[in-house]
Amino acid sequence: MRCPFCDGADTQVIDTRNSDEGDSIRRRRRCSQCDKRFTTFERVELNLPVVVKKNGARVDFDRRKLRASIALALRKRPISAEQVDAILLRIENRLMSYGVRELASDRIGELVMRELRKIDKVAYIRFASVYRSFEDVEAFADVIEELRPPLGHETDVIEELRPPLGNEQEVLASLTDRDQRFKEVN
Ligand SMILES: [Zn+2]
Repeated sequence: MRCPFCDGADTQVIDTRNSDEGDSIRRRRRCSQCDKRFTTFERVELNLPVVVKKNGARVDFDRRKLRASIALALRKRPISAEQVDAILLRIENRLMSYGVRELASDRIGELVMRELRKIDKVAYIRFASVYRSFEDVEAFADVIEELRPPLGHETDVIEELRPPLGNEQEVLASLTDRDQRFKEVN
């Protein structure tokens, strides 16, 4: 493994550990030339399905792109990079477990929404509002409806969706202002 900083050929493993999920090995390495440290991951390689977009175009599964869209939904939310990695890993494992050569991009979006919904409601709404693109008010109302808490706990959820003081406009802008019901909740 060459050093990513100085391209030196001599790097040493200084620590090795299994990921929490047990499906990858994380190695801490040190370059003996420039002394910088970096991390490598070793994972089983299985083939991910080719993604079929809405317009029918086939593209390779792009982990970086998926990570970027998840990270965008989670911007400024209290979710660690490790949790994002875990989400990506679960989605990829799921995709590989399907054992199909092609998969509609919709299915991947649904997997992401399912994961986000479990860890962060705000990120879930952000992702869903972009992903489903909410051409009609009904679709957005459905998502809000899915998040509706049991009677008597409304204020808890309103509190969770409430942005930190001073960031209301930003958060509202990053969601969508098309749905009146969401505004009412806020
Ligand atoms: Zn180096």
